[in-house]
Amino acid sequence: MAGEPQPDCLFCKIVAGEIPATVVRKTERTLAFRDIAPKAPVHVLVIPHAHYPNAAALAAAEPETAGELLAEAGAVAADEGIEDYRLIFNTGAGAGQTVFHAHVHVLGGMSMTERMV
Ligand code: C5P
Repeated sequence: MAGEPQPDCLFCKIVAGEIPATVVRKTERTLAFRDIAPKAPVHVLVIPHAHYPNAAALAAAEPETAGELLAEAGAVAADEGIEDYRLIFNTGAGAGQTVFHAHVHVLGGMSMTERMV
């Protein structure tokens, strides 16, 4: 069923607490944790607890959760004390997506005018 945990999904395992992560924020529907391979001084991923393959699929199925994901991304930036940051949704392997569970990268703490994930 749409949104159900997938047994082979890394981020579903992080949501379930089966794989460790440095969690910085948690709500009933979202989880924010530090990227294991940070590309900037602040590099946090915000994910829905529910499994959808990418952010657009999440927004189509659960628009309220998608909105909360964005709000939580802003809250992460505020918690980290950064006003300027970049949000990235890699969608598809050809765009660099490696984990097929919806997530947004929150990147900041340095000049982000040229750098890409
Ligand atoms: O957008 P993309 O799918 O490439 O992003 C996945 C991100 O998940 C990567 O930046 C990777 O470093 C991160 N990751 C993580 N913890 C893991 C596995 C991957 O933070 N255990």
